[in-house]
Amino acid sequence: MRGFLFDLDGTMYTDAGAVPGALETIGALRSRRIPFRFVTNTTGRPRSKLVERLRGYGLEVTADEILTPVRAAVVLCQEQGYRPVAPYVPEATLEDLQGLDLVAGTTGRAATARPGAVIIGDLGDLWTYELLQEAFGFLLDGVELVALSRDRYWLKGNQLVLDAGPFVAALEYASSRTARVTGKPTRQFYDAAVKSLGLPPDTSPGDIAMIGDDLWSDVRGAQEAGCQGWLVRTGKFRDEQLSESGVVPDRVLGSVAERSRRLDLRAGSGGDRRRERRDRRQRGPPVGLCPLGGRHRQMLGRQQRRRPRNGLENPLRQCPGRLRGRGRSLNAASTLGSCT
Ligand SMILES: [Mg+2]
Repeated sequence: MRGFLFDLDGTMYTDAGAVPGALETIGALRSRRIPFRFVTNTTGRPRSKLVERLRGYGLEVTADEILTPVRAAVVLCQEQGYRPVAPYVPEATLEDLQGLDLVAGTTGRAATARPGAVIIGDLGDLWTYELLQEAFGFLLDGVELVALSRDRYWLKGNQLVLDAGPFVAALEYASSRTARVTGKPTRQFYDAAVKSLGLPPDTSPGDIAMIGDDLWSDVRGAQEAGCQGWLVRTGKFRDEQLSESGVVPDRVLGSVAERSRRLDLRAGSGGDRRRERRDRRQRGPPVGLCPLGGRHRQMLGRQQRRRPRNGLENPLRQCPGRLRGRGRSLNAASTLGSCT
C-alpha cells in the first residue's frame, strides 16, 4: 500500500485508552516514510483536543495530520457564501469554525437575521427539543442544512450511543430537505484526504487503505472513493452488523495493530503477493460445469477430459456419486458439490 487513512475513535483509541499496538503501527509507518492521515467524523471536540488526546497516549501528531468535517464545513460555507451560520455543535468545537459568522444554535448569541445555513454535529446529550425546534424553524425558512456526518452511533464507554446521523435524519424528515454532508463518507472528503497524503499524482486510490470501525463511513465510503476499505473488529464493530449490512470490506482486521504485523508495509511488495495467495486459497479451485447442470470443482473438469475406457462412455459424464482422482476416492456430492 502507498498510503493509509485511519479513523480515530474506535480504531486508534476507545474510551478505555489507545488500542493496543496502534502506536506501533503509526511508528512503523513513520519509520518507513509511508504517508498517512487521521480522518475522523468526531465533532464533539475540536481538533486541538484530538491532538492533545493522541499526545496523551504517546503519539506525537500535528493538527494538520487530522482531517475533520468541521474544517470542511467552513470551506463549504465560505465557498457558498452562507453567512451567518447557526452551529449545533458542542461549545468547544466552535473554535474550529473560526472564519464563519456564528449566531444562534450553541453560540448563545441570538440570530438577528436569517442564517445562511445550520450546521449539525454530534451534540450528544446536549441536544434539547428547543435546539432541534430552532434548527427546524430555520430550515422551514429555506436555510441550508449542512451535516458534519451521518454516522449512526459510536461506542461510548461500553455502550453504543447516538451520533449526529439520527438527528440529521430527523431534521431532513421534518423539513423535507436533504443535508449537505461534509465528512465521511462523502467523496469530497475522501478526495481531500487522499490529496493531503502528498503522493505522486499517478498514484491509484486503490493503493490507499482506509482503516476504521464504521461499515458505512469508513469502509463503504472509502470504497466508493476508489480506496480500499479495511474494517477493524474494535470500537463499534459488531459481527451481526457486518453480516447484515451488505458492505464487504476489502479486509477485516482484529485491530489496527494487525496492520503492521500481518501486512507488508512496503508498497506493492510481498504483502500484495501474500494477499493474492490467500484470496486464491479462499476462492478454491475454479469451478467446472457438471453435465447435469450442477457446479463441480476443477477435478471434475480434468476427469471429464479423460478418454473413455473400453469404448464405453466415461461414467464420470453421467456424474456418479463417486469420482476417482489422484489415487483417492472422492465423493462427488460431499466433496465436490452436489449436481442434483
Ligand atoms: Mg470510528
